[in-house]
Amino acid sequence: MTRRRVTILGATGSIGQSTIDLIARAPDEFEVVALTGGCNIAQLAADARRLGAEVAVTAHEALLGDLREALAGSGVEAAAGEAALLEAAERPADWTMSAIIGAAGLAPGLAALRQGGTLALANKESLVTAGPLLMETAAAHGARILPVDSEHSGIFQALAGEDIAAVERVIITASGGAFRDWPLARLARATPEEASHHPNWDMGQRITIDSASMFNKALELIETKEFFGFAPEQIEVLVHPESLIHALVGFRDGALMAHVGPADMRHAIGYALNWPERRSLPVERLDLAEIARLTFRAPDEARWPALRLAREVMAIGGLAGAVFNAAKEAALDAFIAHRIRFTDMAAVVEAVLERVSAEGGLDCDKIDLDKVREADRLARLRAGEVVEKMLLQAD
Ligand code: NAD
Ligand code: MG
Repeated sequence: MTRRRVTILGATGSIGQSTIDLIARAPDEFEVVALTGGCNIAQLAADARRLGAEVAVTAHEALLGDLREALAGSGVEAAAGEAALLEAAERPADWTMSAIIGAAGLAPGLAALRQGGTLALANKESLVTAGPLLMETAAAHGARILPVDSEHSGIFQALAGEDIAAVERVIITASGGAFRDWPLARLARATPEEASHHPNWDMGQRITIDSASMFNKALELIETKEFFGFAPEQIEVLVHPESLIHALVGFRDGALMAHVGPADMRHAIGYALNWPERRSLPVERLDLAEIARLTFRAPDEARWPALRLAREVMAIGGLAGAVFNAAKEAALDAFIAHRIRFTDMAAVVEAVLERVSAEGGLDCDKIDLDKVREADRLARLRAGEVVEKMLLQAD
């Protein structure tokens, strides 16, 4: 049997490590081409050695020496920086995991698509910032994109064998994050530390905070539209504190197909890894009698303004997704740095969308990577200005 060639972009992160866990269980089936990471050189080098990767790449050029040293004698090539990351993503692979966090995942994901294999897409930001570009690139190069976000994997699985034209609506669920049951008045005082604890999922810090603010679900609304092509009004968000139903697809005959599973990303990653087959995965088997009940509630838009902003972004289209995501990333940085309050994040994003819109910076007939990068840069600049103004007013 020929081994499948796999690359993991963002190998040292939460999704990257779960992917490695699955691959390391079947060493005879996979050949690792490239692993990429950031500052965690020890982890990157250890995994590259263990899996016998062709190349390991750190995003930080200054860390090349450390990476070389950590890989000495292993036969694994060491590389660093943005160009090296793209070069690694372009090496022929049958399956690439896109698990870099944030807009930084877009260009490497596009590079992987250009070599025509399968891209398992955890990096939702690439669909939010440049959905049409990603889908067109895949089509042009005969590449396939499989969703890895649990909700989107759930929708994808519920759609298997179905006619997409028979879909009336899709529902993605949200746990509600760390502050689901906090009194609204307390939210302004919430700290980054408090926002970094998710009730059900164990994920990277940034997406955990985005779960508390619902910016994660806001990105996922846009991701659903871009990936499946549903109209915004067909896509609903439902708060489901147990996080066991990840998504539901409603058909025109009234049937709802729900995807139910444990809150373990190895399910969605493994589904994408084995697709179109289903193979045994090391995830918990749910005991529904033990769980006894699943609960649901409508999302409160006063608590989670990010959901309203996502609807505005979907209505505008063009570069609004790129601006929205970049403003969100900048606002999140400012919150993590204790510069703005938890509730200020949505205010920053809204102000940036308004400003960039007034400058004509959201309009665009056909997006390309340069336009997306420019929109990203402008949004971060404006977000910095909005944050500074907030700080002055708070003094
Ligand atoms: P993480 O922060 O744990 O890991 C991010 C990875 O990206 C690390 O390997 C890091 O070194 C790398 N990275 C960070 N900045 C980079 C840059 N500028 N250039 C190159 N590499 C960089 O993130 P995560 O939680 O694993 O999330 C990864 C992606 O998967 C995100 O898009 C997230 O939205 C999505 N996702 C995550 C989960 C989850 O359970 N963690 C679930 C669904 C979707
Ligand atoms: Mg998700």
